[in-house]
Formats: sequence, structure tokens, C-alpha cells
Amino acid sequence: MDDIRSRWENVRQNIEQACLTAGRDPRKVNVVAVTKYVDSDRTQEALDAGLTHIGESRVQDGVPKWETLGRRGTWHFIGHLQRNKVKAVVGRFSYLHSLDRFSLAKELSRRFQAAGETIRCFLQVNVSGEESKFGLKPEELPEFAREVAGLPGIRVEGLMTMAPYVEDPEEVRPVFRELKSLQKELKKLEHPRLTVPHLSMGMSRDYQVAVEEGATYLRLGSVLVGREK
Ligand SMILES: *Cc1c(COP(=O)(O)O)cnc(C)c1O
Repeated sequence: MDDIRSRWENVRQNIEQACLTAGRDPRKVNVVAVTKYVDSDRTQEALDAGLTHIGESRVQDGVPKWETLGRRGTWHFIGHLQRNKVKAVVGRFSYLHSLDRFSLAKELSRRFQAAGETIRCFLQVNVSGEESKFGLKPEELPEFAREVAGLPGIRVEGLMTMAPYVEDPEEVRPVFRELKSLQKELKKLEHPRLTVPHLSMGMSRDYQVAVEEGATYLRLGSVLVGREK
């Protein structure tokens, strides 16, 4: 656990440094500890170290962890979600970072509304255009956002993207910048349910650059909790 505490301290300092560079308030940067590579004990250590946002990317791993630890944190579903798995997310996960299809949005809306709950969603955008990546095309975003904003049981929290894998994180700065500019475009629609305050971007390799470009949720796995799988 000490090792998670010192990793977290180190990450926190890097975030503060990036905020200093960009003239941002570090309190506006939330960290989701991505525990998909580690077991429940290690996830518990992350919670013990004061990390309260937990990110999982698969229902079959995330739900068993939630059963033992769920009450201790706020749970984020960050992976691709199939429609037939939505019911496992209800009552457990507060955030979904990967909303990219209307069929999924409708199912989330139906099930969360029936449970009297709201799921906070990030619309996933494939900014880099890599074929291997999920997400909306940037040009599809405004219409999709407007449609989703009309659904009960869903709150559009912001936008999410995954940058390509590169050695030098400077190379992905334009991807983060583009997500920020898409956020500005959505705000201009002045739709009352599309305030899109947040940007979920930045992973272990590139989070400092993401912070400099306006990230408000970082999704950090290996740099915080390591990887066992
Ligand atoms: C695995 C994963 C992360 C964390 O990856 P690291 O590089 O280990 O920080 C973040 N976001 C998503 C969507 C992931 O699947």
C-alpha cells in the first residue's frame, strides 16, 4: 500500500506541475484509479490510499470487485459496454466513459430511469481516427449529443477520448486539444442539458499533457496501481 501512496504522491506532484504550467487549478483535476489490471486486494489498497474514483473496463471483473468494495468509492465504467451488460452496471457504476452509440444510450436510459437513477456519461470521440478505436467521429458528435441529452436517466457529463499509443506524449497533444475544441462547439449549442463541463482524457503515458490541455478526469492504471495481468 505504501507503494500506491508514494505513486499517488508522485502523480499528484506531476499534476500540480502541469497545472502550474497551464495556469489551472489542480482541484479541478479528478483522478480515476483504473484497477482493471489488478485484483480486489490491490483495488482495496488504492481505496485505502485515498483514491476514491475506481475505474473498471469489463463487467466480469468490475462487478465482483464492486460486490466487496463498492460502497467505498465511486465507480466508473471506462471500457466498451455491450447493451446486454447494461443491467449489471445499474446500481453499481455512477459514470460511463464510453458512450458512443444511440442503441446503448437508449438501453442505459431505460434501465437507469426504471431504477430511479441517473448515469453520468462521457461521449467517447475517436479523435485520432484510428480504426482500432471505439468512439464517434467528431462530425457525428453534435447530433448524437443532442439526441442523448433528451434522454431521461442519462446526464451528459462531458467528452472522452483515448490518444494513440506513441513514445513521445507531445505527439498526442493535438488529440487532446481537438477534444477541448469539440467541447467548446457543444457548449455553443446552448442546449440546457449539454453543459458538458468535463473532459476525460489522459492515461499513464500522457496525463501531464492532457492536464495541460484541460483534462478534468484522468484515467490512470499502470502508473498508480501497476499491472498484474
Ligand atoms: C486501461 C485503460 C486506461 C488506463 O491505462 P494506463 O495506461 O494503464 O493508465 C484508461 N482508459 C481506458 C479506457 C482504459 O481501457
